[in-house]
Amino acid sequence: MEVALVLHMNKGSGESSYAKNSTLQSKIMCLGKAAMEEGILKILKKSSIIPESMGIADLGCSTGPNSLAAMTEIVKVIEGRCCSLGRPSPELRLFLNDLFDNDFNNIFATLPTFYNRIRQHNKAPCYISAVPGSFYGRLFPTNSLHFVHSSSSLHWLSQVPKGLQSEERRMLINKGKIYLSKSSPQCIVNAYLEQFQNDFSLFLSSRAEELVSGGRMVLSFMGRTSSDPTADESCYYQWEFLGTALMAMVSEGLIEEEKVDSFNAPYYAPCPDELRNVIEKEGSFILDDVEAFPMEWDGGAVDHQQYTTVAELSRARGQRVTKTIRAVVESMLEAHFGTHIMDDLFKRYQDIVADYLSNASTKYINLVISLRKKETRGIMPEVIGYLKNILTLENYAFRK
Ligand code: SAH
Repeated sequence: MEVALVLHMNKGSGESSYAKNSTLQSKIMCLGKAAMEEGILKILKKSSIIPESMGIADLGCSTGPNSLAAMTEIVKVIEGRCCSLGRPSPELRLFLNDLFDNDFNNIFATLPTFYNRIRQHNKAPCYISAVPGSFYGRLFPTNSLHFVHSSSSLHWLSQVPKGLQSEERRMLINKGKIYLSKSSPQCIVNAYLEQFQNDFSLFLSSRAEELVSGGRMVLSFMGRTSSDPTADESCYYQWEFLGTALMAMVSEGLIEEEKVDSFNAPYYAPCPDELRNVIEKEGSFILDDVEAFPMEWDGGAVDHQQYTTVAELSRARGQRVTKTIRAVVESMLEAHFGTHIMDDLFKRYQDIVADYLSNASTKYINLVISLRKKETRGIMPEVIGYLKNILTLENYAFRK
């Protein structure tokens, strides 16, 4: 499965679209707001260092109302800061990134409203572009960005870990499961961790090239505080319950067992120590801060007062959670299992989740991390630039 080609949140603005079912992610974005504001204020510390033009990217912007929400906040903070320093805002280059099959058209249709809204705050020119492609690799020119934001996206891996997919082993390992499970052998746990380490390291080294010296990133994604990747808080249940629903369909002859055995989720929810290790090893960034926020499965969207019995409340919560998860994972499941089983699958999933929530209060953990690109100090950047020029010229002369 080529993740970059099949993963996209449900398109459009219909009932099962991401646009209509992303309040959980919107709440998660709000949790990262303080860190985002702090990061930008640190970039614009004093009047003398405010750049003429600022490059800002939102990675994994998706579609729907959340896509431009982060950018709107960022523009407000920049404008407020420049105003308080008594100087004009920089020209803003805003980049919205997501995978190739993302519903960018849905965002473009809301741009006129976005421009109107930010014009109330921002007097300087503002240029928006969409940048389709994977953030696990280069997306922007060298030294072109000042701030990178990403919310609810980096828990997606670039691919299913290799060890789980090899033809001869795939029938033997992770049978009947679609993600890490409490009974997973160590080799599966290691394969997921290794994929995360490789991906996150590539993400950091790519951004390190694109960010200016001292540039910053605020990244938020599903994670965990426990060192155990199958801890209840790690979102592991979402996949476990989807696996249970799929296996029930196998037992009724609706899906082939081999189909379930050969599907594994390209997903990982890291813990702070795993993040720290990759950041230190990669070496381009300083980790300024890590925060962990517990989050209700339904994002607190279901009003508990409205329901008189536990069964009614859990049914409503099960429905809410299912809509959120369906809007996110349906494209990937459809590509593997076919469209025809989706309604049945998610009906079963909803019942399993409702049943679970009737006597459990498990929460997700959302991690927000703030990073600063290490600075090349004093005269060094100029010296390096000068040397690079000489070398290029000499090369040129030599080749001629
Ligand atoms: N930031 C939005 C969307 C989160 S959904 C919000 O908070 O609501 C996660 C998004 O990340 C999806 O749209 C998915 O397509 C995107 N994504 C996942 N892997 C990606 C990758 N490697 N490169 C770019 N985008 C990716």
